Amino acid sequence: MTQTSVRAAAMPRLSEREMAVTRHLLIHGPATRGHLGDHLQLSMASMSRVARALLDGGIAAEDLEPEPGIGRPRSILSAVPSARHVVGCKLTGDTVYGVLCDMMGNVTSTAQRALPAPGRDGTVPVDDTVEVIARVATTLAAGAPAVHGLGVSVGGVVLDRSVVREGTFLGWHDVALAPPLSEHTGLPVVVTNDVTALAREQLWFGAGRTHSTFGLITVGAGLGFGLVREGVVVEELIDNGHLLAHAPLNVQGPRCSIGHPGCVAAYLNRDDLERRASAAAGRRVTFDDLVAAREAGDAAAADLLDAAARALGHLVATFAGALQTPRIVLAGEDINALASSAAMDEVIADRLRPGAEEAQRCVLDITTEPLGFTDWARGAAVTGIQHVLGAA
Ligand SMILES: [Zn+2]
Repeated sequence: MTQTSVRAAAMPRLSEREMAVTRHLLIHGPATRGHLGDHLQLSMASMSRVARALLDGGIAAEDLEPEPGIGRPRSILSAVPSARHVVGCKLTGDTVYGVLCDMMGNVTSTAQRALPAPGRDGTVPVDDTVEVIARVATTLAAGAPAVHGLGVSVGGVVLDRSVVREGTFLGWHDVALAPPLSEHTGLPVVVTNDVTALAREQLWFGAGRTHSTFGLITVGAGLGFGLVREGVVVEELIDNGHLLAHAPLNVQGPRCSIGHPGCVAAYLNRDDLERRASAAAGRRVTFDDLVAAREAGDAAAADLLDAAARALGHLVATFAGALQTPRIVLAGEDINALASSAAMDEVIADRLRPGAEEAQRCVLDITTEPLGFTDWARGAAVTGIQHVLGAA
């Protein structure tokens, strides 16, 4: 491997109290010392110490605002976006998509590079992948005074924020990715599941601003699930989302790739949908072809997409019920074409419909974010920011 140089800047991680204040400033914006102390239950003396440490460390800045009628000006703290820069990379089966982000999660530049082709055994070579990621990081680092960390996300199962146990689109099993990347770049590295990374991004800069518990469903190349409970991101799912993806909907329905009749995946998973559409048409039909055919008035395409949207509606309702939150974020490349169908809303309304003696107890708050690869990479970068700052 060639050595790649990133201007790496080692920074001490924040203490628990410093982290709490920083997190509040990042999520909710500038605040007075008094508000922060009240909200985070810190004494004035503790709050002073924390503020001093954050000001000295360049993480926060202070503005003094005169208070009318009282002599003493109010101190307002705000986070300094440029205090940290982190590179985030999302790996697909064939490409590394990278972004450079500041501490507020603002993307300041992007880069991408092709991954090497899979070998004869179907796995993408690990050493070459490490090199490609390092090159993307080097390219992006040129746009910042210093880079403090690297976050990498992949589809599949990741252990200990380091080891890719199953790399779904890379053919990887038990690949220790963080150590060689860290050695190669000199940066602290965190590796994570790609949907978990989006959940982390949403926790600080999206749904988490108003809800401490929320769920995230991604629909694209596979179904993905992320969840946050009481402000804590669930890092490793017990089943990689299998139980929700294969929940039964219709025992007489079409079979999914592993043989369940009428499960969620049978209707909603892109591969299953394309397989059925192709079999019916007698030629290869992609998801995008189906969407285009629906636009052109093709009833069969509309039926397949409506069935997928209904499956999504059931999935949303079941996930919200199990998590006990009204807040569900839908994301991924295929989400717009499905969430825009009235069929999803109809199913959710029906699932919420109260019985004769009941009142309707909740309304779900569902947002749709059709994400591109840059947004996925931003999730990896935000995970990296949380890692270098010392967030749990
Ligand atoms: Zn199934």
